[in-house]
Amino acid sequence: VEGVVTPGQVPGDSDVEASLRPRSMDEFVGQEKVREQLQLVLAGAKLRGTPPDHVLLAGPPGLGKTSLSMIIAAELGAALRLTSGPALERAGDLAAILSNLVEGDVLFIDEIHRIARPAEEMLYLAMEDFRVDVMVGKGPGATSIPLDIAPFTLVGATTRSGQLTGPLRDRFGFTAHMEFYSADELTIVISRSAAILGIELRPDGAAEIARRSRGTPRIANRLLRRVRDYAQVRADGAITLDVARAALAVYDVDEMGLDRLDRAVLSVLCRSFGGGPVGLTTLAVAVGEEPSTVEEVCEPFLVRIGMLARTARGRVATPAAWDHLGLAQLQAESR
Ligand code: ATP
Repeated sequence: VEGVVTPGQVPGDSDVEASLRPRSMDEFVGQEKVREQLQLVLAGAKLRGTPPDHVLLAGPPGLGKTSLSMIIAAELGAALRLTSGPALERAGDLAAILSNLVEGDVLFIDEIHRIARPAEEMLYLAMEDFRVDVMVGKGPGATSIPLDIAPFTLVGATTRSGQLTGPLRDRFGFTAHMEFYSADELTIVISRSAAILGIELRPDGAAEIARRSRGTPRIANRLLRRVRDYAQVRADGAITLDVARAALAVYDVDEMGLDRLDRAVLSVLCRSFGGGPVGLTTLAVAVGEEPSTVEEVCEPFLVRIGMLARTARGRVATPAAWDHLGLAQLQAESR
């Protein structure tokens, strides 16, 4: 399912996202820790005149991993090559990219945890020794020819660092853990976006959108665009607090950033199952969704904001969930 609060990219995001990307470390909002660490890594490499260590960017979708990789390349004055784990199905695909690199290039591999095994093994040698072994021929007569490649910096991005194999993880000199953004940081992000897009955004309108954006810049920018539609069609174009509230009500995004499905999951959990514990499959059937959708789309956010707990015996609604749904009374009675 794709909704207005999906953290991954949905159709329509990509063009506008390109125009809203921060271009330098200074424009990149938040992530203070990661920025400071990265700046040191980059400055150290510059001093020594060598490509910096390989960098792994770990964290949930939409927090700015791709943007950061572009900034890394820009700070190094290097060219950026972009590819992704799923695109590297055969080792040959990767060999072609690696052998075309120019000294100092930054190679960005998105979703690096999804890289196929043979390509991954080729990457080990490339990262460590700037070398690839190219297989020539088939069967018993096949030989491998070692080929030197230009020293480069790999920037890998992953939403699931736990799925990375040990040998791959060990070859990154630095891992940046991206955090969710505070509402204040997201207010800065959307104020900047509004200026770029020529949207009249009042401070209280900005703060309201930021609060409901699940700590994720991509969602914040998307909600800004939806609220702009409302402001232009049903109001005078300016995004005020009232306009933001009315627009987000149309899109079923509540004060905490929960959408219709999130609320359905919590509501079924509380009303039909007394707050749980209940198994994922049962819960999914009750809201008419695939278990994977509930697990991967709804639950991470509900768990993060402390409304849902995953226990060994099943999913449980926390008191915060009962409260949020206005069911605290019902919870007290059911005890
Ligand atoms: P995915 O993992 O889904 O590819 P991502 O983590 O690579 O996502 P980006 O594509 O870099 O995320 O960012 C999504 C959008 O959010 C960008 O268009 C950018 O405008 C905005 N954005 C992300 N991080 C920041 C930030 N720190 N400051 C300003 N804007 C940001």
